[in-house]
Amino acid sequence: MKFHGSLRRSLFVAALLASGLFSRAEVNKAEPIAPDVYFHEGDIKGHGHCNNGWIVFEDYVLVIDANFPSGAREIMPKIRAITDKPVRFAFDTHHHGDHAYGNQIWVEQGAVPIAHTGVIEEMKKYETGYYGGKPGRWEDTAKGRADVAASKLKPPTLLFPKEMIFDDGKHRVELHYFGVAHTHGDGFAWLPKERILFTGDACVNGPYNYLADGDTGEWIKTLEAAKKLGAKVVCPGHGPIATGEVLDDQLAYFESLRKEVKKYAHKKPEEVKAAVETIRSSLKKDERIARYVGDGLTSQVEKVYVEMGGKPFVNKQAAAEEHWRHAEAHGRELVQRNGK
Ligand SMILES: [Zn+2]
Ligand SMILES: [Zn+2]
Repeated sequence: MKFHGSLRRSLFVAALLASGLFSRAEVNKAEPIAPDVYFHEGDIKGHGHCNNGWIVFEDYVLVIDANFPSGAREIMPKIRAITDKPVRFAFDTHHHGDHAYGNQIWVEQGAVPIAHTGVIEEMKKYETGYYGGKPGRWEDTAKGRADVAASKLKPPTLLFPKEMIFDDGKHRVELHYFGVAHTHGDGFAWLPKERILFTGDACVNGPYNYLADGDTGEWIKTLEAAKKLGAKVVCPGHGPIATGEVLDDQLAYFESLRKEVKKYAHKKPEEVKAAVETIRSSLKKDERIARYVGDGLTSQVEKVYVEMGGKPFVNKQAAAEEHWRHAEAHGRELVQRNGK
């Protein structure tokens, strides 16, 4: 039985790799990627949603990432169409709004939000409104997103410092912390039997890297650790599902970005800022990483330059724009632009 189960799983993943899922995957569609394992690419452009996954265990469903409240509502009926089993756990890969602000929605359905302990530390830093201080990111985001305004922040209540394991004999999901990356609390969900890895925004597949809450030097080490798992399929935080090689591409992007910025590490902030377009064309030349180069490059260059000892650029505009582009309200400017 055991042999058949694992054989079935590896055949399924092999078929998946051969089926061209990676080229035909669609946004907002639940894709079975192994028996009882699903991937759902979120609509980042229209609604700022993150990607989700869910695993149907014998007695319950584990959802990967809570998404924004509207993102949670998007996938809930899709889970219900597949199984009657209750969603018991929602794993926040990190503290950003597009991954954790939907927690309350899942709690109302009877689920418990789970995260690495670092997620709470990050929330204490940025969600000052919730913790009794001045309005923080939630309040800021609520100004532009009706779904957030209508809900409330619910920090995760089940926390793990290093790892947590779900195993009912048939399915096994390991939540891991490998170090600082996109934030100071990035968790990964690893399915060792299927060799599927859910990375949150520690690995994305497209121009979605937001660096401000993380550290690119540490991020590279964390990705190296994640790579050791030997994933065949990677479900990134944003962008299409991919093979394990996307981890190498994401790593290569940070290595090249750091190498480029290092050339300017001893220059003045305005000189580095003036060099962004030169850096852009240099990074774009590398086919493997070209898809990571996007509108956020100025803030990415600035962040890496600051990590290398430089001072922030005088013009705060780029950082502010990038802030709005990412998690706290990808949706905000888009919602405003679309008049929704
Ligand atoms: Zn994020
Ligand atoms: Zn995200």
